[in-house]
Amino acid sequence: MSHGVKLSGRCLCGAVKFSGTAKEPKVDACHCDMCRRWSSGPYFEVVLTDVVLEGESNVSTFRSSDWAERSFCNKCGSNLYYQMRDSDELQMAAGLLDDQSGLRLSRQFFIDKKPPFYTLADETDTMTSAEIYAAFAARTD
Ligand SMILES: [Zn+2]
Ligand SMILES: [Zn+2]
Repeated sequence: MSHGVKLSGRCLCGAVKFSGTAKEPKVDACHCDMCRRWSSGPYFEVVLTDVVLEGESNVSTFRSSDWAERSFCNKCGSNLYYQMRDSDELQMAAGLLDDQSGLRLSRQFFIDKKPPFYTLADETDTMTSAEIYAAFAARTD
């Protein structure tokens, strides 16, 4: 039995619905080139486990790198989640969640890749590309 916060959501057209558990009600933002191309801004995500998907035939998946995939609704194009290929956690798009009122911005990844036209005002932890690659290398050793 996992503890945490139960969250549910859906894509823009409603063909894909989901529920899952967030260990903590926290949102991370990623400013990397791929996330910005995918989202036209930072990718805001909530890490969910025990995800139950409804309408799975409407989910298409794009392998964006050797280590991760990005899934989206093939009816309306909403971004759904990012998933590392060795993980069963889904990094779900925060904007899909039905109730976002309890969520707080926690971390910002690839802060050095953030373009100058926006800045997130909330106080958060940040990680640069170099810090992320170092942490990733340590994890896979
Ligand atoms: Zn949809
Ligand atoms: Zn990213």
